[in-house]
Amino acid sequence: MSDSSEGVSRGEHRGDSRRDNPAVRRLADWDAARLADLAGEYGTPLYVTDLGRVRENCARLREAFPDAEVRYAAKAHTGRAVLETVRDAGLPAECASAGEVHRALGAGFSGAEVQYTAVHPPAGDLDYVVDAWREHPDLTITVGAADTVDRLRERGFDGRLCVRVNPGVGAGHHEKVRTGANAKFGVPYDRAADLVESASEQFDVVGVHAHAGSGISGDDLANHRELVRRMGDLAREISAAGVDLEFVDVGGGFGVPYEEDEPALDLPAVAEATREAIGGIDATLAVEPGRYVVADAGVLLTRVNTVKETPETVVTGVDAGMTTLLRPAMYDAYHAIRNLTSESGDGAGDARETVGATVVGPICESSDVFCENRPLSRPERDDLLAVGNAGAYGYEMASTYNSRPRPAEVALEDGDAALVRRRETLTDLTEVESR
Ligand SMILES: *Cc1c(COP(=O)(O)O)cnc(C)c1O
Repeated sequence: MSDSSEGVSRGEHRGDSRRDNPAVRRLADWDAARLADLAGEYGTPLYVTDLGRVRENCARLREAFPDAEVRYAAKAHTGRAVLETVRDAGLPAECASAGEVHRALGAGFSGAEVQYTAVHPPAGDLDYVVDAWREHPDLTITVGAADTVDRLRERGFDGRLCVRVNPGVGAGHHEKVRTGANAKFGVPYDRAADLVESASEQFDVVGVHAHAGSGISGDDLANHRELVRRMGDLAREISAAGVDLEFVDVGGGFGVPYEEDEPALDLPAVAEATREAIGGIDATLAVEPGRYVVADAGVLLTRVNTVKETPETVVTGVDAGMTTLLRPAMYDAYHAIRNLTSESGDGAGDARETVGATVVGPICESSDVFCENRPLSRPERDDLLAVGNAGAYGYEMASTYNSRPRPAEVALEDGDAALVRRRETLTDLTEVESR
C-alpha cells in the first residue's frame, strides 16, 4: 500500500504503525485482480467493504484520542458486518434513528454503548427507544430541543440524557452537511446551560453534544477549534452551576481525501487541536466520526454498458447510478474512478489512450452523473470500473428510485470474501405492496 500524501517526517517517530496502518487507503491501493474476481462472482453493481480496513481506522482513531471516547456515527454505514467490527474494536455507536438503535442492539452493542441522537424524532422513534431503554437502562438519549425533553418525560423516560447544542459555527465540505450553524439542529447555545440545569432535576444529564457538520479538513480546523472551545466553556459553566457531566461530545466530521492528490487528514493534529481547545473540563471528551471509520474501507464496482462518443466527451454508461451511490448527485462529491479492465493489460486492453470520460448511470435524471470529462483510459463496453471511497454514505444512501433493486455487498475479512447483503430482485421491489 502506498501513502504518498503525507510527509515522511511524522511517520518517523510513529515507527511501524504508519506502514501497518496508513492514514489513508487510496483507490489505487486496491488489488485490481481481486476486485475483478469479486465482480465476476457476485455481479455488478457491487459494494466491497474491507472489514480489516474498518478495524485499522478504528485503531488509528483510538490511538489519536487515547483519553477520549471515540464513538462510531453509525449512519455512515449500518451494515451488520460493519457494526460488529466496530463494536469489536471497542467503539460505541451513535445512532440517528430508532432503526439505527435497533441495528446497533441487534449487532451486540450493549445499552451503555448506544447513544441515540434524536433529530426532530417522530413519535414512533421515541416510543421504540424508550421501550429499548426499559430493557437497556444504560442507553443515552441526546435531545436537540426542549420540546423533545417534554416528549420523553411524557413517555416515562428519566434516564441518561444528553443535550445537543447548536454551537453557532459550521464546518463542512458542502452546505448540505453543515449543521452546526443551522437552526434545525440543537438547542441554541445561549439557552443550553439553562436547559441542562432544568432537565437535571428530572433526568440523569450526562453530557452535552455538538456536531458541526461533515468534512473537517486542515482548512476547517479553525472552525472545529472554535466549536470545541465553545463546548469547553459551556461545560465549565454547567459544572459551576453544580451539574456533573460525564462527557462533552464535540461531534464527528473528520474528513477523508476524496481526490487522489488530496492529503490525508492529519488526525494527530486534529486530536491535539481538540484537546487544546477544550481546555480543562471535569468530563471525558468524546468524538463521533462516521465517514472516517468506513469511507476508504469501501469501493463500488460497476460495469460499462454503453459508450457514446460525442464531440465534447465520451459518455460512459455504467450499471451503477445515483440510486447506488448518491453523493456525486447530492453533494457534487468527487469520487476517484479506475478502469480496472484497461489496467489488466489482457489483450486489447494494453495502452489504451486517455480520453475525457463522463461516467453516467441508468437513471432518468440529469444529475445521475459520477464524473464529467474525467481523464480515464478509454472505456469500452463490459469494462469494470471501481469507484473509490464508497464505504461511507454509499450503500447507506442507496434507493430503489426508477425501480432499481439495490446492489449486493461483499465484505472482506482475513483474506476471505463473504456476501453480507444479497442483491435485491425485481420481486423485492413489489413485495411490500398490498395491491
Ligand atoms: C452525521 C453525524 C456524524 C458523523 O459525521 P461524519 O462526517 O460521518 O463523521 C456525527 N454526529 C452526528 C450527530 C451526525 O449527525
